Amino acid sequence: MEKIKMTTPLVEMDGDEMTRVIWQMIKDELICPFVDLKSEYYDLGLEYRNKTNDQVTVDSAEATKKYGVAVKCATITPNAARMTEYNLKEMWKSPNGTIRAILDGTVFRAPILVKGIEPYVKNWVKPITIARHAYGDVYKGSEMKIPGPGKVELVYTAQDGTETRELVHDFKGSGIVQGMHNLTASIESFARSCFNFAIDTKQDLWFATKDTISKKYDHTFKDIFQEIYDTEYKAKFEELGLEYFYTLIDDAVARVIRSNGGYIWACKNYDGDVMSDMLATAYGSLSMMTSVLVSPKGVYEYEAAHGTVQRHYYKHLNGEETSTNSIATIFAWTGAMRKRGELDNLPELSAFADKLEKACIDTVESGKMTKDLALITTLKDVTPLNTEDFIKAVRETLEASL
Ligand code: NAP
Ligand code: MG
Repeated sequence: MEKIKMTTPLVEMDGDEMTRVIWQMIKDELICPFVDLKSEYYDLGLEYRNKTNDQVTVDSAEATKKYGVAVKCATITPNAARMTEYNLKEMWKSPNGTIRAILDGTVFRAPILVKGIEPYVKNWVKPITIARHAYGDVYKGSEMKIPGPGKVELVYTAQDGTETRELVHDFKGSGIVQGMHNLTASIESFARSCFNFAIDTKQDLWFATKDTISKKYDHTFKDIFQEIYDTEYKAKFEELGLEYFYTLIDDAVARVIRSNGGYIWACKNYDGDVMSDMLATAYGSLSMMTSVLVSPKGVYEYEAAHGTVQRHYYKHLNGEETSTNSIATIFAWTGAMRKRGELDNLPELSAFADKLEKACIDTVESGKMTKDLALITTLKDVTPLNTEDFIKAVRETLEASL
C-alpha cells in the first residue's frame, strides 16, 4: 500500500514519561507505516525544556500559529520534587499554560465513547464536550480577610483620575472579601472559539451563567455571547441547523443530566473546572478523554486530557510490565491529522484518521483493552493487554480495515 501524502507539516510536541514511550510506539506502529508523516518536531520533554530555558515551548507555540495544527504529548509541570529529579535550573511553568497564553485559546474536552464502558448517566448516549473559559474570575482574584467593623468598597480609578465607587459591604464584624475581574477581549475570544468549534463539529452550543444574580458581571458574559452570535454566527448556525442556547447555570446542570449528550457546553472558568471533572468521571475514565485547544483565529492543538502517567513510567523503567491506555493519545494524533486533512484538502488523510479511531473503538469493543478499562467494563469476555500489545492489537484491527 502506498503511504498517504501530507502537504503541510504537523507541529509535533513530544513530552514526558510513559506518554513519551507511548508516543513513539504510536508513531512506529500506527502512523508511519501508513502515512508519509510530515512533522516539525519540538521536544517538550522536561530535560530539553530545561536545556533551552523553556524556549522550545515558546517556539512550538509559534510554529503552531504558523502551520495551524499541533499534536502534543503530555508533559511534566515541574514541582519541588521534579526540581531535584531533573536537576532543573528553574521551576519552569506549565507548558500548557505557556502555549495557551500564546495561542489565546479555549480548551474543549470530550469523552471517547465505546460500548462496554458505560457512562453512569445512562441516557448520555452521545459525548458532551466541555469548553472551559481559561482566564480570570476567581483564578485571578484578590482576597482579603476583614478583621472587624469597617467599610469595603470597589474603587475604579480612571486614567484621568476620576473615581467610581461601589459599596461591597459595611462590615459590623469580621468577615472576608474577594475581588475578581475578566476582560472583554478574553470573553470575546472565548465566545468566538466556542461558536467556531460548534460549526466545526456540527454540534449545538449551550452557554450558562448566573446572570439573574450577577446582573453586571455574569450578564456581560451573556450579552457578549449573544451579540457575537447575532452579528457573526447566526446565519451559519441556521444554515447548518445548529442551535445556540443560553440558560441559567442551575437550569443547565439539570438539563445536562437529563440530556442525551451531543452538544458543546461552554462554561465560565470555575464552572468548567468543576463540571469537566464531573463529566470525565461520569463518562468512565480520564484515559478516554480528548482535549483540543482552539484559538479564536482557528489554530488547533490536540492532546490527551490525562498526564504523563508517572507511576506506570517508573514500573516501565524497572522493567515491569505496564498496561497504559494509549487511546487518548492516539486520538490526539487522529484529531490533528483529520484537521490537517481538512485544511489541506487531503480527504485520504482525514479518512485514515477516522479509520484509526474506529480501530481503537472496535478493538476495545472486541474485548481487548488495557487494565484501566478492563476494571470498569461491562463486557464479559475480556482480554487485558499490556501497553505494547494493545497498540499492536489496534494495528491488526486497522490493517484489516484498510
Ligand atoms: P496522570 O498522569 O493523569 O495519572 C494519574 C493516574 O491516573 C495514573 O497513575 C493512572 O492510575 C491513571 N491514568 C491516567 N492516565 C492513564 C492512562 N492513559 N492509562 C492508564 N491509567 C491512566 O496524573 P499524575 O500522575 O497526577 O501526573 C503525572 C504528571 O503529569 C505530572 O508531572 C503532571 O504535571 C503531568 N500532567 C500533565 C498534563 C498535560 O500535559 N496535559 C495533565 C495533567 C498532568 P493508576 O496509577 O491507578 O493506574
Ligand atoms: Mg479541576
